[in-house]
Amino acid sequence: MTNASTIAIVGAGQAGAIAAAELRQQGYAGRVVLIGDEAHRPYERPPLSKDVLLQPDTTRCAIYADDFYAQHAIELRLGMPAVALDADAQTITLQDGTSIAFDHLLLATGARARRLPMLDALGGLGVDVHTLRTLDDARRLRTALQPGKRVLLVGAGVIGLELASSAIDLGAQVSVIEQAPLAMARCAPPVLSRHLCETHRARGVALHLGVPLASAAREHDEIVLTLEDGTRVAGNAVIYGIGVEPETALASMAGLEVENGIVIDAQCRTSHPRIYAAGDAAGQRSTANPGVTRQETWENAKHQAVTAARAMLGIAPEALDAPWFWTDQCGLNVQFAGDMRAAEWIGRGSLAAPPCVLFGLDADGALVGAITVNLGREMRNAKALIAKRARVAREVLADPAHSLRDLARAAS
Ligand code: FAD
Ligand code: NAP
Repeated sequence: MTNASTIAIVGAGQAGAIAAAELRQQGYAGRVVLIGDEAHRPYERPPLSKDVLLQPDTTRCAIYADDFYAQHAIELRLGMPAVALDADAQTITLQDGTSIAFDHLLLATGARARRLPMLDALGGLGVDVHTLRTLDDARRLRTALQPGKRVLLVGAGVIGLELASSAIDLGAQVSVIEQAPLAMARCAPPVLSRHLCETHRARGVALHLGVPLASAAREHDEIVLTLEDGTRVAGNAVIYGIGVEPETALASMAGLEVENGIVIDAQCRTSHPRIYAAGDAAGQRSTANPGVTRQETWENAKHQAVTAARAMLGIAPEALDAPWFWTDQCGLNVQFAGDMRAAEWIGRGSLAAPPCVLFGLDADGALVGAITVNLGREMRNAKALIAKRARVAREVLADPAHSLRDLARAAS
């Protein structure tokens, strides 16, 4: 590509910022325009449910320093939604009417919190009814999490459990309502889900699992949630985290293929050869799984952003280890790698007394997943074992006397 070419990036979040930086890192000298509808410079979302609430005065979540963008000639258009995409004309239109012609485009539009109309109908959005996706959401939420406040959390996914932990740390009283029988069931095996539930209960969280929400009402100065079994739970504020929906409006408008996200190939190319997508908004076809797989993790956003930027410049992607993410809650740092639907889990150490590791084996006994609890330094070795689909005797996996580093080196 020539110095006169333009790469536009819609979405100034994790994937957008990393892609812009990677283009410069790889020596691209053309124009880079990074368009974001939020007013903030790109920031990390993981601290929003944790340190932004717990240490608001000292937590910094910017991805790059403020002057990074100017230093790298990355044009920032913040507080400015992109509202139209014409794929054939290769133009993107911003809300102020500006039209940007691009040679390549990256859609890094992320995802938005799934809405629960029953709760939105209460009114008070951002006051005593909350969802959490943005920095502004987190700042509004801080006021709901004061000592003595009674907080109702709907959804016991990662957001629900991380917020339950932060809310207890801040002195609030917490009830969690989840329709599934286990918490974090989408991304953690039952053995870990049960342990996390016990840990939250021991910290004073009232967990209502396995019963859907039936209705929500304001009664006097309280919000009352009624479950399908008739249980009534009252509080001063409700926060809900019931999953996300990928932000695909521009892609659909432009006629790109969309199915559980903007469909991309291994190089993050969409169904249009000049348009790429990365991060929470993008879903990838793979030979390993039927359909389109979309990941909603920090690492995936980073990796796909780098892959897309490189592909635009004709550079091959970097290899990726087993998918990885983490959660911090109740003083536990839990890291997950590989397949969480493993047939069998073997413990090295006890969940009741971390640090410990859980190893996931498939039906043939190959190591396909691992979870570390307060033992992140072992994740590199666990990932190496997963990459080799290692077959290690169960008693060896369970015995801390056998170093994981040695096992990873020895695995063929
Ligand atoms: P985003 O970071 O959402 O960025 C997309 C940006 O595009 C947004 O700013 C959006 O407003 C903007 N945008 C959308 N449409 C337009 C448009 N038309 N015009 C302009 N701008 C637009 N992952 C982990 O692995 N570990 C964690 O501990 C963890 N914690 C998390 C905690 C919270 C509270 C949340 C919300 C997420 C967490 N995640 C975590 C997930 C991780 O943050 C996301 O997977 C990651 O942010 C995805 O990056 P992205 O760039 O695809 O999307
Ligand atoms: P999530 O992890 O998908 O969990 C949503 C939970 O809400 C599920 O347990 C779901 O149960 C439940 N639910 C759905 N509809 C419900 C309803 N009507 N009533 C009660 N419960 C309901 O999503 P999330 O926790 O909202 O997180 C949102 C996003 O933030 C995700 O992209 C996530 O990756 C990201 N995030 C990540 C981290 C991390 O990685 N550490 C931390 C915070 C946020 P069913 O499965 O039965 O539908």
